[in-house]
Amino acid sequence: MLEDKFGRRFHYLRLSITDVCNFSCTYCLPDGYACDSDRDFLSVAEIATIVQTFAQLGTSKVRITGGEPSLRKDLPQIIAQCAATPGIEHVAMTSNGYKLDKCVEQWVDAGLDSINISIDSLDPRMFASITGHDSLDSILAGIEKGLTLGLKVKVNAVLMRQYNEKEFNGFLEWVKSSPISLRLIELMQTGDNQPFFQQNHVSAEPLKNQLLQSGWCQVIRGKAAGPAQEFYHPDYAGKIGLIMPYSKDFCASCNRLRISATGKLHLCLFAEQGLDIRRYISAGDEAGLRQELISLLGDKEATHWLQEGLTGATKHLAMLGG
Ligand code: SAM
Ligand code: SF4
Repeated sequence: MLEDKFGRRFHYLRLSITDVCNFSCTYCLPDGYACDSDRDFLSVAEIATIVQTFAQLGTSKVRITGGEPSLRKDLPQIIAQCAATPGIEHVAMTSNGYKLDKCVEQWVDAGLDSINISIDSLDPRMFASITGHDSLDSILAGIEKGLTLGLKVKVNAVLMRQYNEKEFNGFLEWVKSSPISLRLIELMQTGDNQPFFQQNHVSAEPLKNQLLQSGWCQVIRGKAAGPAQEFYHPDYAGKIGLIMPYSKDFCASCNRLRISATGKLHLCLFAEQGLDIRRYISAGDEAGLRQELISLLGDKEATHWLQEGLTGATKHLAMLGG
């Protein structure tokens, strides 16, 4: 089992398969994707080596992310590879939903069991102004299709003062009738978005108080759960999760490690650097990779330093998948 010196166990791998994206979200890639780095992304065979090795070390859940993972043509093979790995019980993906309506059936057939779709606004014009794409209707249709196929659907929305702060009640109304789990994420500062962060960061603490005062109850966290504090209400079909990276003890329940699209291990989303493990991955050397992962985990720090404004090597989250 992968365990660090603070007793945290790592059941959950977030695997980026590309850093390319077709959207230009205001807080992430406001000028769109710029090809300024190495694009030698992990192959399906390399992904198989990574996932098998992590599974041997106790990982039970893989989340495929990016950039935009659905831009990779071999995505169904990647999903199938993860799903076929002994020990992997959950295969999830995070996507902007651009290809959801067209491809969701193929992804479910390949073994995807849950998906997080980013929808920062339910107002089509606001959605377009945040993402640069007028595709809200097609994404919502894709979600409906996913639900009918039995896919577990979560929706991620980043809270922003100047954009969607007033939409909380609209989101709640949606969750009343739809069995989705809505994640409201506090905007995080990254290397590239500092002025935007200063103008737009909104704390989720008042929303948590509002939920608790209106009959929502907190869900007990499972071992492979994400970082959200989750809430349910008997009158609502869906759930609400709050992701509050600036809250005290956020890192105490960390259960995930990250691999970048070029095969670097990131011990934290905001680590100072990615650690190069590609030589083991490319050689298919699972024993060597196991030893290296155990040894590198010794350097994982107790917490990120976001409160101090230190964002490590992370210019934007498209680099690593959030
Ligand atoms: N392109 C996919 C998508 O948007 O869902 C996957 C990658 S994206 C980096 C993963 C998640 O990170 C998305 O839900 C996105 O909204 C969120 N995200 C990106 N930048 C962020 C930031 N600075 N603060 C908080 N969340 C952020
Ligand atoms: Fe692309 Fe996702 Fe970043 Fe938006 S948040 S620009 S969809 S990687």
